[in-house]
This record gives sequence, C-alpha cells and structure tokens, in this order.
Amino acid sequence: MTGTESQSWTAIDCDVHPRVPNMRALHPYLDEYWREQVIDRGIDTLESIAYPPNAPISARPDWRDAKGEAGLDIAQMQTHALDRWGTSAAICNCLFGVQMVYNEDMAAAFARAMNDWLAKEWLDRDPRLRGSIVIPLQNVEYAVDEIERCAKDKRFVQILVLCMGELPLGRRQYWPIYAAAERHGLPLGIHAGSSYHHPVTSLGWPNFYLEDYLSQSQGFQSQVASLICEGVFVKYPKLKVVLIESGVTWAPGFLWRLAKFWRGVRFEVPWVKVSPLETFRENFRLTIQPLDAPETGDTIARVIDHLRSDDILLYSSDYPHWQFDGDAVISPAIPDRLRRKIQVDNPLATYSRLSEEAP
Ligand code: ZN
Repeated sequence: MTGTESQSWTAIDCDVHPRVPNMRALHPYLDEYWREQVIDRGIDTLESIAYPPNAPISARPDWRDAKGEAGLDIAQMQTHALDRWGTSAAICNCLFGVQMVYNEDMAAAFARAMNDWLAKEWLDRDPRLRGSIVIPLQNVEYAVDEIERCAKDKRFVQILVLCMGELPLGRRQYWPIYAAAERHGLPLGIHAGSSYHHPVTSLGWPNFYLEDYLSQSQGFQSQVASLICEGVFVKYPKLKVVLIESGVTWAPGFLWRLAKFWRGVRFEVPWVKVSPLETFRENFRLTIQPLDAPETGDTIARVIDHLRSDDILLYSSDYPHWQFDGDAVISPAIPDRLRRKIQVDNPLATYSRLSEEAP
C-alpha cells in the first residue's frame, strides 16, 4: 500500500465485541444434529458464558440499553462507536465461550455457527466491520478446517483464541494453525479470557472476578514466552500475534526478564537465536484498551521507549466494555505524534487483508 492509499483510512478499531445474545441466536447456523443436541442437552437457551454481562466492566453504563444489555444491536454499535470516532474498519471479536466446551465436535459446530452468525448478522450489515475467525482449539484438525473455510471470506482478517486454554500456545501440536495463519495472511489474535479448563492463576482458583481479570496479564506473559521459546517465529517468521485487551505496561518488565534469562540459559533453546525482545518487536502487537497507565505523566512514553518501537500499539475501543469514559478512546497519555500511526499505519501493517483494500 502506498502512503497516499493509507491516507484514505481513518481509525481502524482492532477490538469491538458484538455479543451473541444466547444459544438460540445460533440455532439457524447449527446443523440439524446439533440443533437437536442443544435442545436434548437443555442448553438451547444458554446465555453468554464468556463474561458476566452485569459486571460493570462488561459494558459502559451509557452504552447499555433499557434492559441493561449492550453489544447486541448493530445500530447501537454504529452510534456509540463506529460513527462517533470516525471508524473506517472495526474488527469484531466474539466471546461466547466456544472454547469452554470439552466435546470437540460440539466446539467445532459452535465455532462454525458463531462465525456464520457474525458474517450474516453483523458483517453483511455494515461494510466497515471485519471479523475474527473463532476456532475450536480443542481439536487442531478442526481448527485448521475452520480457518480454511472462513479464510475464503476476505472480511475475516484474524484468527481468534483466548489467553488461557488447555496448553501453552507455542506447543508443537498447534503449529498447523500457524501455518494456516501465515498462508492466509491472518494474524493470531489472543484475547483476554479463559477456557476455564485450568485455574486462571498458577496458584489455583481465586474467589473473585477482580482477581480473574487481573490474572490475565500473567496468562499473556506465559503465552509470549511459550510462542518465542518453542520457536514458533523461527518456523513462521511472518506470523503476527496481536495481544488484545491485555494491557500494555506489563510488557517491558516481563520482556526484560525474559531476555535476561534467555541470555543465561539459551543453550536450552538454541533455535532462539535473537533476543526475545527483538522477536516481540517484530512479531507481537498490543491493542491500547485497556491502557493500564496514568493519564498524566510520561509512563506510556517510557513504555514505548523501553519497547524501542513505535510499531507495536494498535488502536482499539474494546466496545462495549467499560475501559474509559467520554471520548477518551485514545488516552491523553499516548503521545500525539503516535496517534495516526496507532490508529491507521500500525493496524494496516499488521492486518495484511486490510492493506489489500481501500476503504
Ligand atoms: Zn476486548
């Protein structure tokens, strides 16, 4: 893409959340067998099982409708987020707990239904919307099948997994997914969340949602370490990984530790020939909501300085989650000189399918 072409883009929002209202919404997208199964199993009216919908952080108060719901209605998303911030593209990340089920066939059926639901109910209705392909990580063969099926639709620009699953994402059994990702120019988006097949802390189950949400950054750190140490980027150097809703300020301190200990024990992973910090700069990106830094002072400028790259941060609103008030979608803590880069240039450089088209 030339500089002139990129000028025609305004903001590219890399994390918005259409909400699947309940299992019944997916019925038309399930085959006959699974339609009957969800009724027989008594889960046909199951509501969203991703995040507690009534928790304050799940939706900003002024974005809730009369019933207290948010993220269900495309007109509301248009008014509250897309039109409001002059968005030219927004990437929809659906969180409906597909990753939580144990049955591989059920997981594949639910992922298929959810991706088709997203395409029909949202992407077809606003040309600014793009999608992430939700995959059934419970079975890698099924996951690759789902990528191949959805990748034909160029509106799908990313593969979506949760921060905490069955195993660290660098493990070799997942590599066919990264081969497919690289083949189709699809970044791997890792969003905060868990399959809840393991406790969300390394110490066991916490009692409170607050602890669950805070522990996500530990999950992100472990995934970064796993993907780098296992050598994923040696095999798939073009693969981009986007850490979504992870926060930002944990990155420099963690990467310093990772790079320091890599220097000491790199004989264990001789295929990792460059510093993890360098790999992070090349292959990882972070969305900017929530921005876990004070709005005053130079914390964020220093974080960017520590990462030694202006290319890492990607614009996101995290609509309808409550991460900021008013119109402060880009925190005043982010230096002005980086605004256009974070809103347009960095997302275009990350999502190759977007840079192949003009808005
Ligand atoms: Zn999010």
